[in-house]
Amino acid sequence: MIFDAHAHAFPDSLAPHAIETLSASPRHGPIVPHTNGTVSGLRASMTAAGVRGAILCSIATKPAQVRKITDWSASLHSESPVLKSEISNPPPPASTLKSEISSLKSQISTLKSLKSEISSLKSQISNPVTSPSVPSPQSSPLIFPFASIHPDFDDPESECRRIASHGLRGIKFHPHYMNCAIDDPRTHRIARAAAAAGLAMTFHAGHDIAFPDTDLATPRALRELHDAIPTLRLQCCHLGGWKRWEESLEYLVGQPIYLETSYCLGYCPPDLLHRILTTHLPTHIQWGTDSPWQPHAADLALFRNLPIPDALKSAALSANTLRFLNLQDSS
Ligand SMILES: [Zn+2]
Repeated sequence: MIFDAHAHAFPDSLAPHAIETLSASPRHGPIVPHTNGTVSGLRASMTAAGVRGAILCSIATKPAQVRKITDWSASLHSESPVLKSEISNPPPPASTLKSEISSLKSQISTLKSLKSEISSLKSQISNPVTSPSVPSPQSSPLIFPFASIHPDFDDPESECRRIASHGLRGIKFHPHYMNCAIDDPRTHRIARAAAAAGLAMTFHAGHDIAFPDTDLATPRALRELHDAIPTLRLQCCHLGGWKRWEESLEYLVGQPIYLETSYCLGYCPPDLLHRILTTHLPTHIQWGTDSPWQPHAADLALFRNLPIPDALKSAALSANTLRFLNLQDSS
């Protein structure tokens, strides 16, 4: 199963305006979106590329958006029973009867899912015209929504607990769109609250195309945040710092920090890209697209063609993102 560690989509009512604004902004330059910005658009792009799941990142650009984003994210998370039965690996060593039973239950559940998927596919083959166009829950790509807490939101601790109580796995922080540096005390407060609630946290890292002159998301500040809050499952986008890859090598590579590849393939100089991917912890590299700003199928093809070991690609496409989401050990 392939997972995209970094994607975006918007509520249907907001998607047209958001896509138009973000892609047409003079600051943004000529960026072409590859979906219509909706969750169904994201799913269609994933389906076409054979991508099973994606982390969907929202960004609160105002404090008033925080609770709405949590609620919307929670509404997208309805497939959790499906993903639990499908994704969960059997528990570690089946040394006791209890764990063997649990493992068998998980396998039976997976087989039931597969049986239902096969039956759904059979009916689609035999009734191509009349079968529903909406995919079954089992075959519909999985969405892992990340909520977002603005640095001026008054109670990040209780909102992090609320986010976790909905079964959501993490939150997104974008220093440029929130006008708040990573080494700002407000950022650290949110990161502490996320770690305490068991949430992962993902950061835009490095420069941003839309904000060329600001320096709010440096690899060094991300390393300091990791050192200050080592229990936080931390993901730094764009391999730790878009167009700051030398600093990413210096401060982030080798640390237990997840680095995802979006906007790096075709942008990061090949030698530097190779050094980062082959010297970082192989358990902490993730494939990501930043969809809709990069297309799934083409970015996946670029990633698969990289001259790095197959085992590294395989972990980056699947196991590492499941571990980042804290889904690997659930049963
Ligand atoms: Zn992004």
